[in-house]
Amino acid sequence: MKLVKLIANLGYGSRKQVQLMFREGRVTDPAGEVLYADDAVGHDEIRIDGEPLDPPQGLLLLLHKPTGYTCSTKDPGRVVYDLLPPRYRLRDPLLSTVGRLDRDTSGLLLMTDDGALLHRITSPKARLEKVYEATLAADLRGDEAAVFGSGTLMLESEKTPLAPAGFEALGPRRARITLVEGRYHQIRRMFAAVGNHVETLHRHSLGGLALGATASGEWRVLGEEDRRVIF
Ligand code: URA
Repeated sequence: MKLVKLIANLGYGSRKQVQLMFREGRVTDPAGEVLYADDAVGHDEIRIDGEPLDPPQGLLLLLHKPTGYTCSTKDPGRVVYDLLPPRYRLRDPLLSTVGRLDRDTSGLLLMTDDGALLHRITSPKARLEKVYEATLAADLRGDEAAVFGSGTLMLESEKTPLAPAGFEALGPRRARITLVEGRYHQIRRMFAAVGNHVETLHRHSLGGLALGATASGEWRVLGEEDRRVIF
């Protein structure tokens, strides 16, 4: 790919703006030598204003989503893209969220521009475990493990019962839930079905991947090792 297109696709500006960056000498190699638009250099050899280029297409990142942000590009309120550098919003292809977390859910959210990877992670066949912690408005009844694990729980307006979900009480109003699917508002609706109400919901892990030291509102790029850990 031509350098101008490569850099423009990463959201640094329109092709015209990137051409201007070349003319202004802002695009250099790691030694500070000015690069020209038709130079044949690899992604890792390019600096803009002395900084390495953002990761190329094929990016997978882990975001610790705070509550109050929507997994959408269009919502008039705060969206998860607001937590990334502004030019990430202009990347072509754009990063998509890998599944969704509700606005009021916090925790581990993946984003990628790799359609095949997104499909692999979200495919029902993958049955990747997603582990959540919920706090509840009312005390647990005691039959939640049996109801959620039954494989027969039908939620309103769904055509098929939920797959068995893992349940562990962590306190009178706290529980860990493990899902292998991701239906709309699933955990909130599961607790509504047993007469309770979810007050807070947090996703700790997806497959073998956990939030680790990534603080709320922060994100990190996942490398090969992290990708292996997912599956
Ligand atoms: N279940 C929910 O109800 N909401 C989420 O965000 C994730 C799982």
